[in-house]
Amino acid sequence: MILYGQQIISEQDKEAVLDVLSSSHLTQGKMVEHFEEKLANYCSAKYSVSFTNATSALHSACLALGVTNGDIVWTSPISFVASANCAIYCGAEIDFVDVELATGNMSVDALEEKLIHAQKIGKLPKVVIPVHLAGQSCDMEKIHALSKCFGFSIVEDASHAIGGKYQNIPVGACQYSDITVFSFHPVKIITTGEGGAALTNSSQLHDKLRKLRSHGIDSNEAMRAEHGPWYYEQGMLGFNYRMTDIQAALGTSQLEQIENFIDKRHQLASQYDTLLKGSQYAPLKRQHNTISSFHLYIVQFHDWSLANKKIIVSKLRSQGIQAHVHYIPIYKQPFYQQLGFNSHYCSKAENYYQISMTLPMHPALTDKDLNIVTSALLG
Ligand SMILES: *Cc1c(COP(=O)(O)O)cnc(C)c1O
Repeated sequence: MILYGQQIISEQDKEAVLDVLSSSHLTQGKMVEHFEEKLANYCSAKYSVSFTNATSALHSACLALGVTNGDIVWTSPISFVASANCAIYCGAEIDFVDVELATGNMSVDALEEKLIHAQKIGKLPKVVIPVHLAGQSCDMEKIHALSKCFGFSIVEDASHAIGGKYQNIPVGACQYSDITVFSFHPVKIITTGEGGAALTNSSQLHDKLRKLRSHGIDSNEAMRAEHGPWYYEQGMLGFNYRMTDIQAALGTSQLEQIENFIDKRHQLASQYDTLLKGSQYAPLKRQHNTISSFHLYIVQFHDWSLANKKIIVSKLRSQGIQAHVHYIPIYKQPFYQQLGFNSHYCSKAENYYQISMTLPMHPALTDKDLNIVTSALLG
């Protein structure tokens, strides 16, 4: 099977993990700190906090920004369900901002229109979570400008986008956001098995994220000097969302190879572009001020119906090619339908879902694989 996404594990990765297994510390320790430092450095952010996965990082990001019962959070419908679930975990209300058809990213125009309306009816969001689909950043400068007018915080769901850039600055720098979240699930750009991280430039948010990750517990020199070396305090309710040193060692080693991974993804994307040129399948539109990480290679076929897409994806799968769809609009999920969303809630997202399909994209693909995929698609 030619998978739509998969990890590459090198000898270096294996050695890094084995070193931790032979050490005295398995769970959160020096390797986690080391990974966080390297990650913050790579992204030009001040702080990075690792988590068990992006889902727990998104949950903690919402909590750190004060999201609670009765608050409203907005995200993109063209994303994995975790982008919306994180708000529900906090007891908040979720709503969806429509996307641009050609990129699948949150539409700044739709966001502005929705904000103006929400202001009139007194239902402005506390947090907006743009999702950088397939690794291409949303138009963060504009979203940030709107956040200043309408008073919301921003969490970038950059689960796809580590290694990408916006205005030539790494995604994760939080230039236009409060917090940026990455996923290190094996299909993503780099992996820790399961894993995630939240990056920020705010020392207060950094402190909250660290506490939320570990039961709300704090321990420092001053406390220990006063009470004794065993002392710690739980000042708030947190979770056990800690990454292990085993995972962090893998993550650090993977991060050392990220430029190779990204280069290979770019090379594959341009090969796909060439092979599909002149066909009915067009890649997602690329914006001039972004450099994608190419987590996914998504094509659009403007004459598609969902019925046709089902036939084509099934045909490719029967030939050993794991074509996929990213994503079913979140509001169409039965859980969100039960919350009362109309099944055609966002018109552009509906259209996007109809015409978009994901082709295999990961650094282990060969030229031969790409020819197999494109021949099967065009044949
Ligand atoms: C993968 C993904 C997540 C969840 O990541 P986990 O690390 O599996 O929790 C969230 N949002 C998006 C857009 C994703 O692709």
